[in-house]
Parts: sequence; C-alpha cells; structure tokens
Amino acid sequence: MAASDGLNQAPPLEAYDLYAENLPLAEALRREGGAWAETAASAFGSLLGDEALAWGVEANRNPPVLRALDRSGRRLDEVEFHPAWHRLLALGVEHGLHALPWRQPGPGAHVARAALFTMLAGVEAGVGCPLSMTYAAVPALRATADLAAEWEPLLTASDYDPRPVPAGEKAGALCGMGMTERQGGSDVRANLTSATPLRGGEYVLEGHKWFCSAPMCDAFLVLAQAPPGLSCFLLPRILPDGARNGVHLVRLKDKLGNRSNASAEIELHGALARLVGEEGRGVQAIAEMINHTRLDCVLGTAGLMRAAVAEATHYAAHRTSFGRRVIDHPLQRNVLADLCLESEAATATAMRLARAYDEAALDEAQAHFRRLATAVAKYWVCKRGPALTAEALECLGGNGFVEDFGVARLYRESPLNSIWEGTGNVNCLDVLRILAKTPAAREAFLAELALSAGGDERLDRFVSGLAGALARPDEGSARRLVGALALALQGSLLVRHAPAAVADAFCASRLSGDGGLAFGTLPAGLELEAIVERHRPHARAEAGARAG
Ligand SMILES: Cc1cc2nc3c(=O)[nH]c(=O)nc-3n(C[C@H](O)[C@H](O)[C@H](O)COP(=O)(O)OP(=O)(O)OC[C@H]3O[C@@H](n4cnc5c(N)ncnc54)[C@H](O)[C@@H]3O)c2cc1C
Repeated sequence: MAASDGLNQAPPLEAYDLYAENLPLAEALRREGGAWAETAASAFGSLLGDEALAWGVEANRNPPVLRALDRSGRRLDEVEFHPAWHRLLALGVEHGLHALPWRQPGPGAHVARAALFTMLAGVEAGVGCPLSMTYAAVPALRATADLAAEWEPLLTASDYDPRPVPAGEKAGALCGMGMTERQGGSDVRANLTSATPLRGGEYVLEGHKWFCSAPMCDAFLVLAQAPPGLSCFLLPRILPDGARNGVHLVRLKDKLGNRSNASAEIELHGALARLVGEEGRGVQAIAEMINHTRLDCVLGTAGLMRAAVAEATHYAAHRTSFGRRVIDHPLQRNVLADLCLESEAATATAMRLARAYDEAALDEAQAHFRRLATAVAKYWVCKRGPALTAEALECLGGNGFVEDFGVARLYRESPLNSIWEGTGNVNCLDVLRILAKTPAAREAFLAELALSAGGDERLDRFVSGLAGALARPDEGSARRLVGALALALQGSLLVRHAPAAVADAFCASRLSGDGGLAFGTLPAGLELEAIVERHRPHARAEAGARAG
C-alpha cells in the first residue's frame, strides 16, 4: 500500500463554519444578550474556518525574530513577524476584538466580543495577547482623563497600523503590559523599576521587565516605584518626535507555546512615561486592566477547548479501528462525551462572565458577581484546559502528537492562560480576599446559583454543601473551595440552559461524585451519543448535505 493512499486517515478539519458548528457558543451568545451580533459572529466564524486556519499554523511555524541592533550596532529594538501574524492581528483589529465594547457600548457588547475572541483563540491564540491587552488597557486609562483623551481613539480604532511611528501619526495603536520582574511576578510589590518625576508631569523609568509580551505594541501600562510607592505608567514605545523611547529589547523568550507571539525581556533606560491614576496606587490603577485580561484568559481557554474537542470528535468520526468508527467504541464515546461536557461548561461560564462585564456598570450586584466570578472562572477553566487538550490529543492516537494534526499546538498553548494575569494560586487567594472584604460579592454569586434552585437535586445538594467551606475559608485549602464554586456555577448554568443530556451528565459526574479523575469516567446510563453529536463539527460540504 502506497503512503499516498491515506488509508484510514481522517480528512483535515477545514472549510467549516466555526460559529454555526459551535452550538454551545451560538446559544450562549443569544442567551447572554448578544443576539444582535449574530450576523457578525456568523460571518467571523465562517471567515475563520477558511484561510485563517492556515495562517495560524504558519504564524506558529515561523516565530518572531528580534532585531535588537542594526548592522552598525545602533539600537533598533524591533521584532519581525511572519506575514500570517500580521494578517491574523489585522483580522482581529478590523473585527473589534481589541475594542468592540468601547466603540459600540451597549447591552451585549462584551458578550458579542467574547464570542469573536473565543473563536479566534481556537484558530490562533498568540494574537489574542495584544488584542486582549489593548481591550483591557482602555478602562484602566479612563481613570486619567488626558491620557484617555489622547490614547483611547487610537486604541479603539479599527485600523491595524504596525508602523513604529509616534502616536500622533498612527491610524490605530496597540497596548501591552509590563508588571513582571525577574525577582517576582505574583508579588508585584517587589518591583524594582524606579520612576523619577521630571518637571512637566513626566517620569523617567529605569529598570527591567522580565516578561513583556507583544513588545511591538505602541504603548505599555507598566508598574514602577515612584517616591510614594508602586505606581502605574503609560510608556510609549516611540516618542512624539519620532525617537525611540528607552525601551531596549534584550531577548525573546523561547516558549513552550504561544510561539507566534513575541514575549520579550526588556530593559528601561531613561524611558519617558506618564502617570496613570495616582502615585502609590499602581496596583489599583492596573487592576481594571487585569480584570479584563482575566476574562480573556477564560474566553481564550474556552476557545482552545472547543478547538480541541472539534478536532477530537471529527477525527473519531472518520477513523476506524477493530471494524467500527472510533467514535462508536463505547469507551472512546465516554472519553469524547466527557471532553464535550468540559468544553460546554467552559463556554457557558465564559459567556456568562462576559455578560457580567456588560451589566456591571449599571447593576451593582452584577459588578460584585463579576469580581468574584472572574477569579473563580480564571482559576478553574484555565486549570482544566491542559487536562482537556492532553486527552483530546490522545483521541488522535499517535497523530495527536504530531504537529500537522493541530492538537499538539493547542496542547502546548493551553497551560499559559493559567499562568499569566495571575497564576492559579493567585486567583484562589484573590477569591479569599474578595470573600473576606466584600460580603456582597458572595451574596451576588450565591444569588446566581439560586437561579437554578430546584432544577436538579444533585446541584441543590452541592450548592448547600458550599456553605460550610464559605463560612471558614482557609488559605491552604483555597483550591478546593474555588474549584467547588466553579463547579457549582457551571452546574447552575448547564441545568438552566443546556440540553438535558448535558446537564444530567455534568451533575452526575462533577457534582455527585459519580465520575473519576481522568476523562472518560462518566457513569453508565447517560446519553453520550447525543452529547458528542451536539459538539461534533461538520465541514461545509457535510453540513450542507445534512441540511439538504
Ligand atoms: C508567555 C508568557 C508571557 C507573559 N507576558 C507577560 C507580560 O506581557 N507582562 C507581564 O507583566 N507579565 C507577563 N508574563 C508573566 C506572568 O504574568 C508571570 O509569570 C506570572 O504572573 C507569575 O509570576 P512569576 O513567574 O514571577 O512566578 P512567581 O510569582 O515566582 O510564582 C511561582 C509559583 O509560586 C506560586 N505562588 C506565588 N506566591 C504565592 C502565594 N502567596 N501563595 C501560593 N502560591 C504562590 C505561584 O502560583 C507559582 O506557581 C508572561 C508570562 C508568560 C509565561
């Protein structure tokens, strides 16, 4: 048999509609207030399912290259990206993934953006980094009126303009973030970078940042020690006269995943910056940014999970072993259904969380829910991502381990969302802080859970069981509490909104102890085939034949 016969190899999952084939996402978009954006989401999903799939592969196979110096040894501090990266980033900017809720504020704006962001994350997560940071920088900048007036129009423009020119000459701009230093990222109070005030309101920064992703951004929100303490600054890459600011790119990190994106170590030498918020209140100033990027970690992981489940179910439907399709083997069906459940729970959580971002400005209870649910979901959904992608990878057998088949890239990408914007532990500790300081956040969270009361006995019992742990939160057990809060939220959402087969399987396996530590341990008696078929994507030709 010639190798070219492709014997029993599944066809690539391509030419498919990422929106129409993702029922949990489409249902959540409508449910959470984004129905008005369905046409745009559908067009974006259709666009992503074509050429863009190949751009994601190319952008990762051709990672960015640092050009620190020119041939004469003068500083350049530029990063060269593959054209596929630029195409993807331009696609994201043109569709408002960096700014939609600020450009078109109104009900469902964050939810609409969330659906688009989730879909792009499954195609290529690297460009999500500058898109997310730019989106998140806007609410932080709004605390400082003159900076917002100058930068918001650029950061929300729908033009992708990668030229290294002063802000005043740009059609659109992107914003990065510099908090983490060599001596500690979780504990930013240990930052050593200094900020010395100059006459005229500017500051000069000296120091370093150990991680600074997307270093070709036009500006960065950075933390540095001003005389009264840690403060937040807006640091432009190019100064108004066209000279480069004192931001030196030392090297690019050689990373496990997220390889299309550049993450630099930078040094700041006489770098000019402007204060955001108040001196000594840097953490408070940048907190708004971190909340929004944490939302994107949840959305991004939901997107990665969806892409992995789409690949796994597609493969299993087209590969045979021992005389039947892999998808029809009872044990493999159990594995696939379990992965589908996890993916659907993540999507429902991410989209509900996005709605809280829409409603927080007008509804105090939603603002409290948002605060607690962001940390809860960031911990749990991002923690489940690597486990899911690892199992999805195995669904392709040996091919899963091979880059050509796509899931390996999802797997390498998946741990990152749990690390940046606060590690798993940092988010769990944040939950404890919120519970201790803001009883209204706990009440808002419980009120959300109460919406499903009576919907499923197993969920009701699980929610009642939270009371004890909530009454005595303890640092050493924080992961247990936060994981339980997340499962309760996911159960509540699925019981209210998902098909009965999905909600039943979730409650049985996640809430009443009838599941195992590995995927594929769902108890007997569930409608596994229905769950898998709900999630299995169909290429356009197949979907058309189905409809016809
Ligand atoms: C690819 C990539 C890109 C990044 N891009 C950026 C960027 O653009 N800008 C930026 O500012 N940062 C960026 N980061 C940095 C990232 O935000 C930090 O790595 C992260 O916040 C953790 O900080 P750290 O690495 O210093 O780990 P540490 O803070 O040293 O933590 C080490 C471990 O200890 C645990 N730990 C720490 N304190 C506690 C505690 N009190 N209780 C329990 N456990 C604790 C942590 O959970 C972690 O597991 C990036 C990181 C990566 C991997």
